[in-house]
Amino acid sequence: MKRTVAALASACAVGAIIATSVGVGTAESASAAPAANDGRIKNVIYLLGDGMGRTHVTAGRERFYGANGRMVMETLPSHGFVSTYAAEKNSGQPGQPDFVPNYVTDSASAATAWASGVKTYNAALGVDAKGEMTPTVMEMAKKAGYRTGNVSTAEITDATPAGQMSHALARGCQGPVYSAKSCQDTKVTGGAELPTSDLRVTPIAKQIARNGTADVILGGGLSRFDNEDEKALRDQGYEVLSSPASQTVATEDDLAKAEGGKVFGLFNKGNLTVEKSKQDNPASAEAKEPTLAEMTTKSIDLLGKGGEKGNGFYLQVEGALIDKRSHANDAAQTLEEIKAFDDAVAVALDFAKKDGHTLVIVTADHECAGFNVIEKGSFTNAEAANPPVNVDGGNTANNSTPSRPSGNTKDASRSTGIVNGAGAADPHNFAPATFRTADDPAGVRDGTKEASLWLTYLSGNHTGADVPVYSYGAGSEKLQGTVDNTDLFGIVADALRLR
Ligand SMILES: [Zn+2]
Repeated sequence: MKRTVAALASACAVGAIIATSVGVGTAESASAAPAANDGRIKNVIYLLGDGMGRTHVTAGRERFYGANGRMVMETLPSHGFVSTYAAEKNSGQPGQPDFVPNYVTDSASAATAWASGVKTYNAALGVDAKGEMTPTVMEMAKKAGYRTGNVSTAEITDATPAGQMSHALARGCQGPVYSAKSCQDTKVTGGAELPTSDLRVTPIAKQIARNGTADVILGGGLSRFDNEDEKALRDQGYEVLSSPASQTVATEDDLAKAEGGKVFGLFNKGNLTVEKSKQDNPASAEAKEPTLAEMTTKSIDLLGKGGEKGNGFYLQVEGALIDKRSHANDAAQTLEEIKAFDDAVAVALDFAKKDGHTLVIVTADHECAGFNVIEKGSFTNAEAANPPVNVDGGNTANNSTPSRPSGNTKDASRSTGIVNGAGAADPHNFAPATFRTADDPAGVRDGTKEASLWLTYLSGNHTGADVPVYSYGAGSEKLQGTVDNTDLFGIVADALRLR
């Protein structure tokens, strides 16, 4: 891990310079400094908004708190950025002669970066780019006697949670019904198919149900598990809130009653239900699913009882649907998922302030869909009748209107006007979704031209933009300036004295 340590040291030096010269942090955040934290970290709570770029945070702030407000995550005292690039299959590590980067990561390679400290290819979990297994920080924490938790609004076998508690050549190898081929990757194994006894081609649900890496497992994805998995969980002493055998999902009431040292609770057969849909359908069965904040509160409660050595705990919490609704270009649902994630951050921060021995890290795995805030009343190149060519000829300096050939007009066939919450339903519509904010006068409604927050998407895919990182507690000073996603592994491992 020498490479990671060296990279981290230089990143920290840069961070210190930036913090001094531009005054990272606000007056508000300075008052939130971890005065109660004595420098000995017992617990790490690592929260990530999947697909949450810097502009997702800005849009959430303006939507819910107005221009002068702050999301809770923005009040954490340490701010920085994380580079997120991945590697191509069979690549070496950065700095090695055979390193080949892929500038846009997926959730699997990003999760492997912070869980194991290595760059890997998109779709890989707990293996490096050459397919070699790498230990994860959650496995290391468990081995060292910490209690561990893994929480997500996605299927718990999905890439982000799986990156801490499984090793797979292909993230699609989730289980229980799967084609053995979907678990193989012969490009990585030199043309050979691995025997099904090899962990790297064993369905992720089977691994999670048997390896005991996480004491508390909360999220979705019950249909990935079967009755053999349930038996394996019970044999290890898990309190199983949702029965894989009967495919009965757990509810928020079941979660409230849970009290075991090891708890397995899945609240949907697939991903959890988006918050906006629960708000719009309060009488539905899905509305009984716990929120991310509720799952975080309960996890801290269950894990906070102390490990074998009184060491504390390591908890990962994922707001997964920010990404999934950004892929769908559904800004209304994306915004509610950002708020739900921020509510979970508030739970973690409250605990950390009272506890005094907790490092809270809030970040993302990558940006999704090029989410952007455009000027009220304006439109994007995607809507323009004649998008500008990608050269600077004719672009007059200091001219703040776009230099679009043949005038600044919209193409009616590509822009049918403002559409909120259904951008994905119309492939020809590149128009913005508009939202009222806390600053708007009463009576201004979402989806109108009077609403002040105008949001657009560049694409339906991930982008290579750096993502923000906010942190609180001893060790958070290492997360100022720009760090790489693989550095997060070392920062957590060092905070918990795992190496
Ligand atoms: Zn995604």
